[in-house]
Amino acid sequence: MKIIVTGGAGFIGSNFVFHMLKEHPDYDIICLDKLTYAGNLSTLASVTDNPHFKFVKLDICDREGVYKLFEEEHPDIVVNFAAESHVDRSIENPEIFLQTNIIGTATLMDACRKYGIKRYHQVSTDEVYGDLPLDRPDLFFTENTPIHTSSPYSSSKAGADLLVLAYHRTYGLPVTISRCSNNYGPYHFPEKLIPLMIINALHDKPLPVYGEGKNVRDWLYVEDHCKAIDLIIHKGKVGEVYNVGGHNEKTNIEIVKIICKELGKPESLITHVEDRKGHDMRYAIDPTKIHNELGWLPETKFEDGIKKTIQWYLDNKEWWENIISGDYQNYYQEMYGHR
Ligand code: NAD
Repeated sequence: MKIIVTGGAGFIGSNFVFHMLKEHPDYDIICLDKLTYAGNLSTLASVTDNPHFKFVKLDICDREGVYKLFEEEHPDIVVNFAAESHVDRSIENPEIFLQTNIIGTATLMDACRKYGIKRYHQVSTDEVYGDLPLDRPDLFFTENTPIHTSSPYSSSKAGADLLVLAYHRTYGLPVTISRCSNNYGPYHFPEKLIPLMIINALHDKPLPVYGEGKNVRDWLYVEDHCKAIDLIIHKGKVGEVYNVGGHNEKTNIEIVKIICKELGKPESLITHVEDRKGHDMRYAIDPTKIHNELGWLPETKFEDGIKKTIQWYLDNKEWWENIISGDYQNYYQEMYGHR
């Protein structure tokens, strides 16, 4: 089996590459990644010598390059993680999100049509469903919840999902889609909530929380997400969407307080900053379908996962210090007004 993993130098994609090489040591894994600001080759250092692993630097929007790769490699499965993934950046500059997330997805699927494929899997997000009100804890996103996006990021992901389903219906492309809640774990880029708070707390820097911090997210340890995708590409039904989530809802402020406690830092570091435009209130996934059909259940409890994640950032300072010493500094200054 030969699998192209796009976006494999990013957070979830790299964890998926590690998972697949470990769980399916006879599979060939080709990581296709443009290496944007969010992609990092050093993340893949532990597998570059593995004869079953290959890295190709390529933009998923580069039709010629993508076709050439498919012609040479004849992959059986494509798992598309490649995306512009940060909501705040999409608010500042939506265009690249439309390019990569929509045009890139179409380009990959056109290659799949041209060269044939056993499965195209689209890694999507619960953000395509929009948000839920805080005062209705009984409501959850199911696969039948209407698409109702809030940000340019989620709109571009929803556009891609609709295209994926259209390619299945129109051309018979064998597709599946997973819509997952917020992930956390090793190799998470420092701009995202959990690594940002860990790294700032370690430096005794202010911990910037949007508004009152009451927004609720459903957190899933990244390895559990990778296991879900592994199951879907092998056993999931073609043409289907699977929600992936851990029933682990936490407000942003709760998350920040947990990190302060784990690191022994004072909550006085927390500073409330102007809320994100169009900020979604609550995401909550109903994962009944993937549980009933494929037997998937999250295995990592949040209390354990957050400890493991914090320990990983303590043990891998070089990885994130290299990132935050580069261009990221300018982005951070623009967002939060201090270094
Ligand atoms: P990330 O930003 O950490 O990684 C994205 C990767 O894609 C990077 O390696 C980047 O270099 C690569 N990339 C970007 N544009 C590319 C292009 N045009 N061609 C090739 N490669 C390109 O993102 P992530 O958090 O790992 O998310 C991966 C996927 O999972 C995304 O599709 C995202 O929408 C989805 N998702 C993420 C979460 C989450 O909590 N992080 C939750 C649900 C779904």
